Amino acid sequence: MLVVRGAIKDYDWGMTDGLAPWAGESTGGPQAELWFGVHPGGPSPLVDADGDETGEVLADKFDIAAIPLLVKLLAAARPLSVQVHPPLSAAAAGWQAQQTSGAPRVLSDPFEKTEMLIALEPFEAFAGWRDREQVIAMLTEIDGAQGALKLLAAGDLGGVIRALLAIGTKECIASLAAAASSAGLSAAQVAAYVTVADNYPDDPGALVTVLLDYLSLAAGEAIYVPAGVPHSYIRGIGLEVMTSSDNVIRLGLTSKPVFVEHAIAALRPDLDPQIVRAVHGDILWPVNSPFVVRMLTEGSERIPMGAYRILLLIEGTAVVVSDAAEITLRPGTAAVMAADDPDAYVEADGLVAIIQSTER
Ligand SMILES: [Zn+2]
Repeated sequence: MLVVRGAIKDYDWGMTDGLAPWAGESTGGPQAELWFGVHPGGPSPLVDADGDETGEVLADKFDIAAIPLLVKLLAAARPLSVQVHPPLSAAAAGWQAQQTSGAPRVLSDPFEKTEMLIALEPFEAFAGWRDREQVIAMLTEIDGAQGALKLLAAGDLGGVIRALLAIGTKECIASLAAAASSAGLSAAQVAAYVTVADNYPDDPGALVTVLLDYLSLAAGEAIYVPAGVPHSYIRGIGLEVMTSSDNVIRLGLTSKPVFVEHAIAALRPDLDPQIVRAVHGDILWPVNSPFVVRMLTEGSERIPMGAYRILLLIEGTAVVVSDAAEITLRPGTAAVMAADDPDAYVEADGLVAIIQSTER
């Protein structure tokens, strides 16, 4: 059993000091994500019993085969990119293809990224596919969208996306909120489109959000996003669990490169995200998921060996006992156990996320 703290990411969409309760410090700047895992994009530092960094990282002890999950705390002040993650077959083939010199660097690694976001505070997102009638109602209100409407009727999803990106002028983006209102969408959705236009007034990818469903999660509720399902997190603080990959293919709402054709190829129109309307304490167990998550508020629990496990303390206190070791976690630190580490027992008074791989 090892103890880590998160590797901090200061992406521009992060909340100012939004992760300070878990980062252990205020930086006065955006704190977007804390990474707990062995992904080379953000190796987690090991800490000792006093919470001080030892100078080593988790990846010095284990490789990605032993640590198949990446866990993040995320604090979004404004919308993240409209994105899709590739399934394993596409990630492996795409990674191979971009090893050729001159090929664009679309992927970060050869792995699938399937993710679940558990809201720690109210959390808003665009995710999955918007009801078709709503899409038609919105596009009818948007100048220049007749071509996209025709392609929608013809069932050409890639064509619709290309057509929307082609009409994404400043005026068109500024009209999204009015279009949502005329289409009869909720006040929260209209406000979300105001937020999108305020933050990305010149980004044609804003138009793609017309195709995406809108979700509002209460604390403790979760959304499971399989590879191939498009999404853009709008705002909030949450815990994100994913397979250990950073493969993000973007369509808009970003200063990073967008790869429209790669994204269209990765989209799965037949798949929807799963909303897990659970409260703290329930097991969040999406069907066919590579992981299970339990949010334990109080009491004790056995965490059996046989799979990768990570216990991240969100608030309060937790003691983890395994073999001869006993560790007291502080918020923002996590106990990490490989599959062949012995059974562990956790006693919590607060909120601890217990995350286990379902793959041995
Ligand atoms: Zn994502």
